[in-house]
Amino acid sequence: MEKKSLAAVLEEPGKIILKEFPLPEVGPDDGLLKVEMVGICSTDVKIYQGKITTYPLPLIMGHEMVGVIARIGHRAARKWKVKEGDRVVLEASTSCGACEPCLTGNYRFCEQPLGYGLKTSCNVPPHLWGAYSEYMYIAPGSVVFPVTDALAAEEAVLITGVLANSVQWLCFLGGLKMGDTVLIQGMGVQGLGAIVAAKAAGASEVIIAGLSVDRERFPLAEKLGATAIVDVEKEDLLSFIKERTRGRGIDLVLDVTGSPPSIALALEVVRKQGTIIEAGLIGGDREVPFILDRLAQKEIRIQGARSKGYAATKAAISLVESKRYPVGEMVTHLYPLKDCQEALTVAQGKEGVRPIKVAMIP
Ligand SMILES: [Zn+2]
Ligand SMILES: [Zn+2]
Repeated sequence: MEKKSLAAVLEEPGKIILKEFPLPEVGPDDGLLKVEMVGICSTDVKIYQGKITTYPLPLIMGHEMVGVIARIGHRAARKWKVKEGDRVVLEASTSCGACEPCLTGNYRFCEQPLGYGLKTSCNVPPHLWGAYSEYMYIAPGSVVFPVTDALAAEEAVLITGVLANSVQWLCFLGGLKMGDTVLIQGMGVQGLGAIVAAKAAGASEVIIAGLSVDRERFPLAEKLGATAIVDVEKEDLLSFIKERTRGRGIDLVLDVTGSPPSIALALEVVRKQGTIIEAGLIGGDREVPFILDRLAQKEIRIQGARSKGYAATKAAISLVESKRYPVGEMVTHLYPLKDCQEALTVAQGKEGVRPIKVAMIP
C-alpha cells in the first residue's frame, strides 16, 4: 500500500492544488477508505465559486463517495460490520452518538464539527477529511454502510448524495403511498433521482417538470420511470395537471428548483389536503411571494427538506441494489482527480455542456 495520498485541496475560491498527505495511522476505532469514485455535489461547486463561505478552508471537498476499506481498526470493524476489502458508502456527517439528532438518526443536525468534504479543514489531523483524494480517513463517529460489489461505481456513488434524499423527501417526509400522484419540479440530478424513489414506492403517476434546456434529459427521465414530462416553457403546467388529474390536483409535489415561481405554482397544482416538499434553496435570505390563503383554503401541508437520515440511506441502498432502474446513467461525466478543476468547471455548466452528475475517479 502507498504511504501517501494525493488529494485536491481547495485553498481559496477558484484555486485547487494537488497535494500529498501521509496516510494516517489507524487505531482500534477508525479506518481508511480507498476512494473509488466521488460525486461532485452542487454544494462543492458553490464552495469552489465562493458562493458558499461557511466551510473552513483549506478543504478537501468530496462528500458523495464510494470506496473500499483499506485499513480498519478491530473495534471499528466490529461496530460497522466490515473488514478490509469491503465496499462501502459513508454519510458526509459523522455522529457524536450522544446528542438528540444523532440518537434519532438525524446526524445531519449534529453539532460536532467533524465530517467529510465540508465541515472539517484538511489542516485538522489526520488531514484526509474529504473524498477528492485517493484515500479518505474514516473517523470513529462515521456512519458506514456496506454495499455490494455487483454495483457499478456510477450507481453506488449516487446513493448517499442523491437517492437517499429522494427516499427521505418523498417517502419519509412526504408520506408517499402506493397509488399516489407525484409531481417533481426540477430536472437536475435530485429531480431525476426522485423519479426512481416515487416509482419504487408505488406512485401511480410520476410527472416531472423541466425547462426547454432540459430536453436532452427527457429520454432518461422516461427510462427512470416518469409517466409524463412537461416542458414548462412550452406548456402550461397548471392546465396540464388539471387535465391529467381530472381537476383533482397532485397528492405530493416535490420542488427541487429553488425558483420562486415554481414554489407559488406548487400551491396551485397540489390537491386539497396535499403535501408540498420544498427541498430547493433560493440562496441568501431572499423572500418568496406566494398566496398564503391557499394553505388554509386547501389545507395544504408544506414541509422543508434537507438531506436525509440513516433509514433513508439504508432504503436507498436496497433501491439501487435492486438494479431495477438505470440510475448509473445519471453520471454523465467522469474525470481523474488531476483534472479536478476542469471537473468543477464542467459541473458549473460552463463549457457549453449540461452534465447531470459529474464524478471523479481519484
Ligand atoms: Zn451534497
Ligand atoms: Zn451528535
